[in-house]
Amino acid sequence: MLELLFLLLPIAAAYGWYMGQRSAKKDQEDMSNKLSRDYVTGVNFLLSNQTDKAVDLFLDMLQKQETENEIESHSQFEAELTLGNLFRSRGEVDRALRIHQALDRSPNYSFEQKLLAKQQLARDFMTVGFFDRAESLYILLVDEPEFAENALQQLLLIYQKTKEWKKTVNIAEKLAKIRPLENNVELAQCYCEYAESLSGESAVEKRNILQNALRVSSRCVRASILLADLDISEKNYQKAISILENVLYQNSDYIGEVLSVLKSCYKALNQLDSFELFLIRAEQTVKNDEVDLSLAKLIEEKDGKSAAQAKLYQQLTKKPSTLIFYHFIQYQIDDAEEGRGKESLILLHKMVGERIKQSAAYRCSNCGYQVHKLLWNCPSCRHWETIKPLSI
Ligand SMILES: [Zn+2]
Repeated sequence: MLELLFLLLPIAAAYGWYMGQRSAKKDQEDMSNKLSRDYVTGVNFLLSNQTDKAVDLFLDMLQKQETENEIESHSQFEAELTLGNLFRSRGEVDRALRIHQALDRSPNYSFEQKLLAKQQLARDFMTVGFFDRAESLYILLVDEPEFAENALQQLLLIYQKTKEWKKTVNIAEKLAKIRPLENNVELAQCYCEYAESLSGESAVEKRNILQNALRVSSRCVRASILLADLDISEKNYQKAISILENVLYQNSDYIGEVLSVLKSCYKALNQLDSFELFLIRAEQTVKNDEVDLSLAKLIEEKDGKSAAQAKLYQQLTKKPSTLIFYHFIQYQIDDAEEGRGKESLILLHKMVGERIKQSAAYRCSNCGYQVHKLLWNCPSCRHWETIKPLSI
């Protein structure tokens, strides 16, 4: 409760100033004495934890000030605004709303002060999930240069929550004009969400939206994957292959995510040899378990289990990996003769498998959130493209 009292110091200062400035007019003196008494009563209510009574009294004082227009309002406004914010941060949003609404309605404050009150009121509505009310306030604030960036950011958050992707794109484009970025990950992801949300629309329109994503963020693998999907649906496998292979240079963190689709494209063209060449090139470029395992699988299909096992052994000596070890043991089991040796290998394989199952395959590089499948937006910190595959 002490923090509330500190907040109210500016109000006390304002009244002190008023007292110093008072003229001989008796009615003014009476008014100030009454307000000072009210102020002390309000503080006493706060001290005795009667917060509701205190809020009622302060709102009443605010109204009196409106009527009389007697005291200097700047300190009073700031103190009331901050008092509301403090209530919100303590989870007492109904009180915050009452204070901020009173400030917004007061005829005694300037246009700029009311904009500040509206901004905080919108935050109150966001806190309690009244997105439609917050939205209408932020739409008003977008036209005010000093409030525009914050209002656009909040509108972006609202439309992302409500999954209104066309509006999200519109707001993200406006935000990008205010603060241009070289690699606009968020805008690119909004384009991808929008493209994915379109069901009946033509492939041409989706393609244009995805090209926009790549224009604002050339490293946007998600846009590449979606473009390749469009090509595959039109049986344009060669085009899909060239897009997916480029992920190796576009953003190699995600190369493991495209390998199975890439393989199915090569299979459709009966060109698995070219897929093997790509995997060999990828193996030399990045250290990625999925690349190593895909190569071993392809070798097994072509040259048998012994060749694949030798390949995995070679990879393990270069870089130890639990996932590759797990697959290596499987080959060992297939090779082993029945007996205690094989039983031990089976037990070891099971234990390593359990360990892999328990480990998360992806982690957010921003907040550390772990998850078993790839998500483009972190559910914990809401950052885009920060969830990356983990090497187990
Ligand atoms: Zn995160």
